[in-house]
Amino acid sequence: MQKMEQLYEGKAKKVYATDDPELCIVDYKDDATAFNGAKKGTISGKGIINNCITNHLMKLLESKGIPTHLVEQLSDRETLVKRVQIIPLEVIVRNIAAGSLAKRLGLEEGHKMSRPVLEYCYKNDALDDPMVNDYHILAMQFATREELNTIADYAFKINEILTNYLSDLGIELIDFKLEFGKTADGQIVLADEISPDTCRFWDSKTGTKLDKDRFRRDMGGVEDAYQEIMKRLLGR
Ligand code: UDP
Repeated sequence: MQKMEQLYEGKAKKVYATDDPELCIVDYKDDATAFNGAKKGTISGKGIINNCITNHLMKLLESKGIPTHLVEQLSDRETLVKRVQIIPLEVIVRNIAAGSLAKRLGLEEGHKMSRPVLEYCYKNDALDDPMVNDYHILAMQFATREELNTIADYAFKINEILTNYLSDLGIELIDFKLEFGKTADGQIVLADEISPDTCRFWDSKTGTKLDKDRFRRDMGGVEDAYQEIMKRLLGR
């Protein structure tokens, strides 16, 4: 597989073309941002950890029938993935109130909700990723009704699979963000990453935060938290 020109550089990853038009290579960086880029820093070793964790969880999801963009991990930081057109939505699933939801609804962080909540945000940094609903998504043609049904169905299934898997490892899945893409033949697949950058993970026993909130909120112990998640999931 020949790595070719860089197609895109985001906040946490770079994407390269390959000699196969249907595949690209994702390269995970240690750069960390929060609050839509207003806070910047480095989390040493994060790129390696997020690459490994994402692939581990995507393999688990594939084994349970969720199609993903994953092809194969190439190195510590690089993974070969299917080239997709990203649906411009952040698909957020929440089990326990935290972050922006706790703020918006005046709930204490940790408030248990009677059922999971699904939210969509329009991926647009200039607009600060505004929340949108089904009507906006259909009117703006970000996705069709059928695609959106598929996305919602996958999001709840992924929540069930991950919640159960992580619970056995002593990790409570508070909330997380997903992104989906469309392959050349129109299939919706899970893309992007699933990592401590994009999920809230709390230790089931102590409630200790093991995710990017430690960076966002200057809590210290950021690298250790990422390492701890890696160790529980991959045993190393
Ligand atoms: N999230 C993310 N990228 C974003 C916004 C949110 O990965 O641009 C994740 C975040 O890590 C959390 C979940 O989505 O697990 C819900 O985030 P929330 O809306 O509470 O926003 P935040 O408090 O992270 O700004």
